[in-house]
Amino acid sequence: MFLVTVAACGGTDIGVSEPSRPETSPAPSTTIAAETTTTAPTDPFRADRTEMVDVLIVAVDDELTMAAMRTVPRHEFVPDDYLDQAYNDHPLPIGHGQTISQPSIVALMTQALEVGPGDKVLEIGTGSGYQAAVLAEMGVEVYTIEIIEELAATAGAVLQRLGYDVATVHGDGYFGWEEHAPFDAVIVTAAPDHVPQPLVDQLAPGGRLVIPIGPVGAVQTLWAFELDDEGELVATNLGAVYFVPFTRAE
Ligand code: SAH
Repeated sequence: MFLVTVAACGGTDIGVSEPSRPETSPAPSTTIAAETTTTAPTDPFRADRTEMVDVLIVAVDDELTMAAMRTVPRHEFVPDDYLDQAYNDHPLPIGHGQTISQPSIVALMTQALEVGPGDKVLEIGTGSGYQAAVLAEMGVEVYTIEIIEELAATAGAVLQRLGYDVATVHGDGYFGWEEHAPFDAVIVTAAPDHVPQPLVDQLAPGGRLVIPIGPVGAVQTLWAFELDDEGELVATNLGAVYFVPFTRAE
């Protein structure tokens, strides 16, 4: 039912430079060896993660976003088979034909939300839970909706295990989450062919909606909308992207 076999969630082909580095990260074992001299519990991926943020993410300068991405263990959100690629700048499969977004796209979208500690954000498309974790790490109050039940359950469990207090629910995010509205920002990580009006209706005055829009299986445009004082959406084009389709409950 989901036409996503060729689609990669949160990939890009413009706007973010390709890194000039090998496709695969240094083997985690290299880092483990370097860190075993300390007695504190170590994260074998820490060096990879720092490098990902410092070297790969070139389209972002928001310190809060960068700090969060330096901290959140992306490898906890990818399947074991892809652990060695967890800090490469590309999407990875997470099952059910879906993907965890490319880190540079996560960074770009997070920055565009213009949120900080205490702000309230709604995410449509929980997927692996990584984007939600980045926002939670920034001190944001996060609400996230996922249409595939198994992904919602897995992401919820990972977020909880890592100590991220994120409200996760299974459902069709088209209608937003009225009960917790208004939101300072809404982020949509799958691509619909139009802006879902309920998501606009649930924005606080001055709120931002970051969303890829375009046809299924083709290049889409990533938009950052801001709700102005007259209730109109002011649009900024953030470039061409390639997301999985925004699907609808039957
Ligand atoms: N933010 C995620 C990216 C996941 S890919 C991450 O960090 O890993 C996009 C996700 O959107 C997929 O898991 C897909 O199932 C979900 N999705 C698609 N349409 C949806 C809808 N109408 N409501 C909620 N989730 C949806």
